[in-house]
Amino acid sequence: MNAQTQTDWTADDETAILDAIDKWVEGEVRPIAREHDQADTYPHELVEQMKELGLFGAIISPEYGGLGLPASTYAKIVVKVASAWMAPSGIFNSHLIMASAIERAGTDEQKAEWLPKMATGELRGGIALTEPNAGTDLQAIRTKADKTNEGYRLNGTKTWITNSLNGNCLMILAKTDPEAKPRHKGMSAFLTKKGEGYEVSKKLTKLGYRSIDSCELLIDDKLVPHDALLGGAEGRGLQQVLGGLELGRINVAARGAGIAEGALMLATRYAQERQTFGKPIAEHQAIQLKLGEMASKVAASKLLIEDAAKKYDSGQRCDMEAGMAKYFATETGVFCAQEAMRIFGGYSYSTEYEIERYYRDAMLMCIGEGTNEMQRIIVAKQLIERNPI
Ligand SMILES: Cc1cc2nc3c(=O)[nH]c(=O)nc-3n(C[C@H](O)[C@H](O)[C@H](O)COP(=O)(O)OP(=O)(O)OC[C@H]3O[C@@H](n4cnc5c(N)ncnc54)[C@H](O)[C@@H]3O)c2cc1C
Repeated sequence: MNAQTQTDWTADDETAILDAIDKWVEGEVRPIAREHDQADTYPHELVEQMKELGLFGAIISPEYGGLGLPASTYAKIVVKVASAWMAPSGIFNSHLIMASAIERAGTDEQKAEWLPKMATGELRGGIALTEPNAGTDLQAIRTKADKTNEGYRLNGTKTWITNSLNGNCLMILAKTDPEAKPRHKGMSAFLTKKGEGYEVSKKLTKLGYRSIDSCELLIDDKLVPHDALLGGAEGRGLQQVLGGLELGRINVAARGAGIAEGALMLATRYAQERQTFGKPIAEHQAIQLKLGEMASKVAASKLLIEDAAKKYDSGQRCDMEAGMAKYFATETGVFCAQEAMRIFGGYSYSTEYEIERYYRDAMLMCIGEGTNEMQRIIVAKQLIERNPI
């Protein structure tokens, strides 16, 4: 894919990009998914291919060497990847959440220093927000950043941090003023490299989303320069992180829709192959009811994602739309994975088949990037705000 200006992408370009992604997914991603997932080994080979495809710079502006794709095209790419194997989409999704925070909130120097290297994949990152005691309630984090003459001294622990082991940089959320009221005014984000700002203390073992590193971090008296502070001013960290959540939620929605569509396709095929009582199970109405409901929910999920992404691309507020898409598409991922398990019968439980991986991977999408409980609360609050009596 070649870099163009952000507004240059046409419908034909989108088709060409999605065709290239499709070929890559079917030729390179799907064939290695089961083996890597079962062994919980990192797909290093895919990282090099992602660099070639430009995925690490997919939504970074062309002026920094990225492709500058609209969120609507990017979401379709994510759906395609996740429909074969959800885990590798995390390699570029979490990385791009960090990159988009820099592009949105960074100083000119930070943009010039970080974004070109992130666009090529030389720097591959993620976001370090969650701590053992704080996930949804981010204002309760305990990681501290103390300002000194030499820079900021960071101390704390983080957990569940994607790309921390196999990537080489992270955006870390910390408290620059733990006593601040309201609490968010004492929060700041720092751009750090592995070794300089954090160490990985433990790789976590997981039900699903295997192969991709989710780790605990130890941040033990790490000195980072003053210019590691995102945007160059303290007290904006939570705002900077929350500012990326609409895009983050569209991403996760796309991963949920991908799992749902992948499970639907596997089930549609299996239902035509498997025979009971002298005919393919696809000819039994009980199976048709499942397939019909799954297909309808997949289509609805994609429409919700497209609606949120189009609003995001046009610069409109879309927290309600992104929340709806994230909630519905990720619940659809769980629903379709479960229904596909039922359609596969006993074979669904075999690690010789792919479907059990979709089942294990699906639930994470309901938790990450704001739990689905929180999404419904956000939607309800927006509904009331937009329709006051
Ligand atoms: C595989 C994996 C990868 C991850 N990757 C990253 C990463 O790269 N970076 C990162 O920073 N984090 C990451 N996370 C962490 C993830 O974002 C958090 O787990 C998530 O935000 C939920 O936080 P928690 O686990 O602390 O749950 P809690 O906040 O403790 O929530 C527990 C339950 O209470 C509910 N709840 C909490 N508050 C409210 C409320 N006010 N109203 C209603 N219900 C509420 C929640 O919805 C949930 O059901 C990852 C997690 C996993 C499992």
